[in-house]
Amino acid sequence: MKRTNTFAVRPLSTKGEQLLRDLLDASAALWNEVNYERLMRYNNEDGFEDESVWDADTGRLEGRYKGVLGASTSQQVIRKNSEAWRAFFRLKDQYHNESNTSVTDHPEPPGFRGNGDDGRQLKTVIRNTSYTVEWGERSRLEILVGRDLKDRYDHTGRLRLEIAGDPNWADYEKQGRLDLWYDETDSTFRASQPVTISDDVRATPLADETAALDIGANNLVACTTTIGEQYLYEGRDLFNRFRETTREIARLQSKLEDGQYSSERIRRLYRKRTRRRDHAQEALCRDLVERLYEDGVDTVYIGGLTDVLETHWSVDTNAKTHNFWAFKQFTERLACTAEEYGILVEVRSEAWTSQECPQCGSTDRTTRHQDTLTCPCGFEGHADITASETFLERHTNEAVRPMARPVRFEWDDHTWSESPRSPERARPKEQRTDPSTVDSDGNVASEDSQAV
Ligand SMILES: [Zn+2]
Repeated sequence: MKRTNTFAVRPLSTKGEQLLRDLLDASAALWNEVNYERLMRYNNEDGFEDESVWDADTGRLEGRYKGVLGASTSQQVIRKNSEAWRAFFRLKDQYHNESNTSVTDHPEPPGFRGNGDDGRQLKTVIRNTSYTVEWGERSRLEILVGRDLKDRYDHTGRLRLEIAGDPNWADYEKQGRLDLWYDETDSTFRASQPVTISDDVRATPLADETAALDIGANNLVACTTTIGEQYLYEGRDLFNRFRETTREIARLQSKLEDGQYSSERIRRLYRKRTRRRDHAQEALCRDLVERLYEDGVDTVYIGGLTDVLETHWSVDTNAKTHNFWAFKQFTERLACTAEEYGILVEVRSEAWTSQECPQCGSTDRTTRHQDTLTCPCGFEGHADITASETFLERHTNEAVRPMARPVRFEWDDHTWSESPRSPERARPKEQRTDPSTVDSDGNVASEDSQAV
C-alpha cells in the first residue's frame, strides 16, 4: 500500500535554517527558469516558434544549479516540472474532448513559484536515495545539499533537521521522493514522505457483510449495510460554498484582460476550493470506512456516477457535480482507505436506482421532491437512502430491512459529526483514530482481497 507521512521539520541552528532557505529558494529559482523556457516555447514567442516545450535545454540549467542543489535535486526539480507539463497536456486533451466531461475548467500551464522581487515559494523535492529519516525518540531528517552551499555555510555532510511529532506510518518497506517546503501560513518547514507499507499491516474484516453507497451533491453519501445500518453524509453546505467560490471565480475571470487566462487571486480561489473539498472527502472516507469496518462489512458497492449524470442530470448540474466530487478521485480515496481495513470497494456502473420505488418497483411513476421520493403505490421515503437500499438489494439478492433509523452526519470544516437533526444517536465508534493506536491496531494477516 502507498501512504504518506507528513511532518514539520526544524533546523537545528540559525545557520542551518539559512542554508535550508537557500536550498529551497534555489530550487524555486530553478523551477522558474525551466518553466520560463518551456512557457516561451509553448507560447511560440519570437525565436521559439518551431520548438516544443520539450526542446528547452534543461541540461544547461541542471549544470548551473547542481553546485547549490546537488545533481540529484536539480534533476528532481526539473523532472517534477516535466510532470506538471505532462499533466497539463493531459488535462487539455480531456478539456477539448467533447465526450469527456471530467474537466470543465480551462487548464493552465504550470505556474511560477513566486519571483525574485516579491519572494519565491520556498519548495524543493528530494530523490528517495538523497535523504534519510530516522523515527524514534529524536526523529530526524537528513538531506543532501550541494557543494557550493556547504562551502558557503562551512557545513559538512548532509543537513540534519529535527522532526516534530510522530509519523502515521513508521514502518515501511520503501520511501519515495520527498517534498520539502516552507509553509508561510504558520511559518513552519514541512515535509511529505511517500512510503510503501507492507500488506501485513492491513486489518481483516470482522464479518462478510455488504454495504452500498449512493453518491450525490446534496447528500454526499447515502449508505445502507446488510446489517441494517444507514448513514447519510450531508453535503448541502459544502456544495453551496463550492458554488459560491465557483461564481466568484467566474466573476473574476470575466474581468480579466484579453489574452489573460488567470490571476493569482483566481488561482488562490481554485486552491482553496480544492483543499476544502479534499479535506471533507478524506475525513468522510475515514469516518465511513471505520463505521463499516465495525459493522463487519467486507465489500462496498458504489454506483457509477457517470451513468447517473449522463441520463438524469442537466448538463449544468452534471459539470458542477462532476467537478465538485471528482468522482474518480473520491472512489480511489475510499478504496485506498478501505484497503487498510481489508475492505473491497467495487464500482458498478449500471442503471440508476434513485427513482425506483422499493415497494412496487416502478421507475416512471415516482416523484422526487428535494430529498423525498414518493410513489402512487403509497411509498414515501428519503430518496438517496432508498436508492442505496435498492442498490444493495440488487447486489445481495436479498431484501434489506433497515433496523435502525438513518444516522445523519454534518461537516463542520474539521470533522463529520452527528447532525442535531439525526433521529437517533449512532453507536460511538471505537477509538481507532487515536494516533497512538492507529498504526499498531489490527496488524493481522491480510486477506487476499483486492481493491479497485
Ligand atoms: Zn411504488
